[in-house]
Amino acid sequence: MTRVRFYEATNSIDANLALAALLAAGVDAVSEANYLSTLMGEVGPGAFSVHLWVANDQVALARQVLADFERDRGGSAPAGKDWKCTKCGEPNGPAFEACWQCQTARDA
Ligand SMILES: [Zn+2]
Repeated sequence: MTRVRFYEATNSIDANLALAALLAAGVDAVSEANYLSTLMGEVGPGAFSVHLWVANDQVALARQVLADFERDRGGSAPAGKDWKCTKCGEPNGPAFEACWQCQTARDA
């Protein structure tokens, strides 16, 4: 089973809610917390982001689940702009880290 890094949540609460939504929809998903460097004192203690990884053949389903999740949560969409896949040109939401269509990484 290959997983792709799919979604970045800015706090553990959002990550847990998103993960629960994915699992409830039958998506094979895991979360991974990334504690940010405190070098230079630019980032306070405890600041971290959480990445969600999903099976690479469930990215489209996961995207749908999280689109619903973000809409239901109401109004607090993650900052940033939609980005366009460099491989297939598909637009993807700012929180998504892999193209839902071809699984190309955002920064590939
Ligand atoms: Zn793509």
